[in-house]
Amino acid sequence: IAVERPAHHTPSAFEKNGPTGDPVVKLAGIRKSFGDLEVLKGIDLNIYQGEHVVLIGPSGSGKSTVLRTINLLEKPTSGSLVVDGHEYGAGSTAPRGNSLQLRRTVGMVFQQFNLFPHLTALDNVALPLRSVRGLSRRDAEARAAEELRRVGLLIRAGHYPSQLSGGQQQRVAIARALALDPKVMLFDEPTSALDPELVGEVLRTMQAVAESGMTMVVVTHEIGFAREVGDLNVFMEDGVVVESGGRGFYENCTSPRAIEFIKAVK
Ligand code: ADP
Ligand code: MG
Repeated sequence: IAVERPAHHTPSAFEKNGPTGDPVVKLAGIRKSFGDLEVLKGIDLNIYQGEHVVLIGPSGSGKSTVLRTINLLEKPTSGSLVVDGHEYGAGSTAPRGNSLQLRRTVGMVFQQFNLFPHLTALDNVALPLRSVRGLSRRDAEARAAEELRRVGLLIRAGHYPSQLSGGQQQRVAIARALALDPKVMLFDEPTSALDPELVGEVLRTMQAVAESGMTMVVVTHEIGFAREVGDLNVFMEDGVVVESGGRGFYENCTSPRAIEFIKAVK
């Protein structure tokens, strides 16, 4: 799916200035095993403010585990993880940050939208604003309406998930994550569960999020989107980063496995 850059594309601050300051997310020597199976074999990755990282690779290569490590859904077996200045992870010598803090800092959007079926779109977005941020019902609803407007769904505020298309449900899930003002947004194959005709609206929503300057890590097979949005593109296989690169990666990468994979998904 081709996602066209708007005619008057304004480069993001990251595109213009490159990395500034310390990384928002820093993975160093991250290893993760499930029993005898080592699925991450030493991942090093620095993600800077406003940077858009695209993670690609075959099924089982460890992409989801990388995302799940960044928001502490998985605890690394060894290595260190720094998110927004707090150090987490097995190998950390610094005081451990608290994971609730991390959950507030990192927003995540899953392949399956994970909306609450018994809540309206508005309440799906408002609920975490009340439970995590402690906003009053009135303030939470006002903020939720604002976020739904941002993804073009204010008109569907009163609808339940079952009354929305898959694309609309995913846009509500994006609004719900954005509402908490995360420092970084993680997307794990957010369009993989969608009918083909619904993919474009979700990619356009994600592109708008990218252009707002949000720091993002996106696992996707949508190479057209990756080419437009990826400041840093990372090809993983079998628990290691095989090759990574900046803009032009999809044309210029040199490792045979990356070339083969990109050709297969394009
Ligand atoms: P990807 O997202 O690239 O498809 P994953 O990170 O989901 O890959 O998985 C990498 C490997 O780790 C796979 O072999 C998968 O079966 C295994 N794995 C992932 N989660 C678990 C788990 N909770 N328990 C055991 N094995 C797991
Ligand atoms: Mg996965």
